[in-house]
Amino acid sequence: MGKVTGFLEIDRQDRKYKPAADRIRHYSEFLIPLSEEATRDQAARCMNCGIPYCHNGCPVNNQIPDWNDLVYRGNWEEAARNLHSTNNFPEFTGRVCPAPCEASCTLNLEDSPVTIKTIECAIVDRGWENGWIRPEPPLRKSDKKVAVVGGGPAGMAAAQQLARAGHEVHLFERNAKAGGLLRYGIPDFKMEKALIDRRVAQMEAEGVVFHYGVNIGVDCSAAKIVADHDATILTGGAEKPRDLAVPGRELAGVHFAMEFLPQQNRRVSRENFGTEEPILAAGKHVVVIGGGDTGSDCIGTSIRQGALSVMQLEIMPKPPELEDKLTTWPYWPLKLRTSSSHQEGADRDFAVMTKEIIGDNGAVKAIRCVRVDSKMKEIPGSEFDLRADLVLLAMGFVSPVHEGMLQELGVALDARGNVIADTLGYQTSAEKVFVAGDMRRGQSLVVWAIREGRQSARAVDLFLTGASELPR
Ligand SMILES: Cc1cc2nc3c(=O)[nH]c(=O)nc-3n(C[C@H](O)[C@H](O)[C@H](O)COP(=O)(O)OP(=O)(O)OC[C@H]3O[C@@H](n4cnc5c(N)ncnc54)[C@H](O)[C@@H]3O)c2cc1C
Ligand code: SF4
Repeated sequence: MGKVTGFLEIDRQDRKYKPAADRIRHYSEFLIPLSEEATRDQAARCMNCGIPYCHNGCPVNNQIPDWNDLVYRGNWEEAARNLHSTNNFPEFTGRVCPAPCEASCTLNLEDSPVTIKTIECAIVDRGWENGWIRPEPPLRKSDKKVAVVGGGPAGMAAAQQLARAGHEVHLFERNAKAGGLLRYGIPDFKMEKALIDRRVAQMEAEGVVFHYGVNIGVDCSAAKIVADHDATILTGGAEKPRDLAVPGRELAGVHFAMEFLPQQNRRVSRENFGTEEPILAAGKHVVVIGGGDTGSDCIGTSIRQGALSVMQLEIMPKPPELEDKLTTWPYWPLKLRTSSSHQEGADRDFAVMTKEIIGDNGAVKAIRCVRVDSKMKEIPGSEFDLRADLVLLAMGFVSPVHEGMLQELGVALDARGNVIADTLGYQTSAEKVFVAGDMRRGQSLVVWAIREGRQSARAVDLFLTGASELPR
């Protein structure tokens, strides 16, 4: 259980960032890992609570107290094995997960949760450095063939689990490389893409066949994929962005975040983005509309490109700096979150609605805003204009794209437009067709995508063979 009195003796200490003035000059990761000794001290703070709430806070149910204890005792290799028993890709979550586990840690009642995410990342990074993470090809092969459509974290987790269960797995991805939003949405400064390449190599060695540059339902009939395989899992994400229906939306210089961010990720990895016109923030006043992770990534990317100023607007009121623990713990609290990108020089404004985008010669010049009250009613007389040469819309995603694959397969959709399936069977309304990740649950998190990929793999294994040793 770590050190019995660890939480009384040792203060919380977490990874720090390299200085903002340095890190905005490049797109590489800038987290400074804790030393081995400091990481062991942090693991020693785990109290091994009778009921460890962190297990439930973590969507993949990582066995956090167990690997904290192993790290405290210096048994890193066993900690890596334990961590991989619940999470296929801890180096992804150890970098980009918002860590709901830490919100539900008992020590968070005193605002000093165990640094779970940092310890997770240290375990897996050490695992790779020491060669403990190797391909795990199956001992026996089945005669079943599975298609996975979509190479994001849900599709990768599902494919890896099914290949390890002995099935022949073909993963189809529209882009030139695997990773989904981890590859093309999340910037390199949050997670470098070599980490995905390393996992792809591991999965190839386990038997997964990757087919890139094929948009199922557009370049190739979805019905044919379903017919050619014993089961098909749809993991195409929730890619339809929420739009802003205001006058001036059509002006040049107004873009969805996911038109802007993938270009920069491709630039970093020297991947061609064809005939698309480059969208760049250099020398511009940038306004980001939307306050979540995507908005934050637009800020960090704009600053690195050399924006003159960056302003982020959020329609909701400013949340409190600290939550009321007695009403929120052990759940994820609503509170003000300041990302590394915010610290790099962006301004933020809350309770602001965009009324109009104003242009000059067909290009955006300013946006007209109004302040709103807690019921999102406009406050009369509070209108103001903001200078803007580039407006990035980061207001979330409404649903999966329906045109193409989903329409062709005719799978049933829920009221929000997501593909219907429960979390036991993951089965859609179409025969032999399963669904997981954002395409099923709507816009979510990498860790939830991994969970659904793993669980849907077990459901497919059961469907194909009548039994499964894959964990749920
Ligand atoms: C900018 C941004 C930043 C984010 N930051 C974070 C973060 O910091 N932490 C976090 O936890 N989550 C974050 N998220 C959310 C997270 O990335 C997603 O929840 C997660 O990637 C969903 O995984 P998925 O596998 O379901 O779908 P996706 O990652 O969207 O992958 C779907 C894949 O399917 C492919 N595809 C779709 N249709 C087809 C088709 N017909 N044929 C072939 N291929 C197809 C797509 O090209 C894509 O590669 C962020 C999202 C965005 C947009
Ligand atoms: S995956 Fe996320 S929630 Fe789970 S232990 Fe890691 S940081 Fe915490």
